[in-house]
Amino acid sequence: MLDGKGAVWDDTYDQFGQRGAHVRATEPAAPAARCVRCGVRFHPNHNYKCRRHKGAWQPATATRAARWSCCAAVGREEPGCHLAMHTAE
Ligand SMILES: [Zn+2]
Ligand SMILES: [Zn+2]
Repeated sequence: MLDGKGAVWDDTYDQFGQRGAHVRATEPAAPAARCVRCGVRFHPNHNYKCRRHKGAWQPATATRAARWSCCAAVGREEPGCHLAMHTAE
């Protein structure tokens, strides 16, 4: 089972079958990290869904509306056009 910090806990039982104390498993899961690109918290072991734009946000000019240079999406909050791995801070 996982607690909020991502540590793994094993329930232990003594020789009489009684439930013992919680002890930390020998190999705790990696703690969650925050992505510097999209701000989402993720577990390094499940790192594959960072949506972002590869290009730059281009403010409107006299001749065209504001848009993303990479995919021409016109909304700043449009979901990213590029799916990549998160980058931990
Ligand atoms: Zn884009
Ligand atoms: Zn990300």
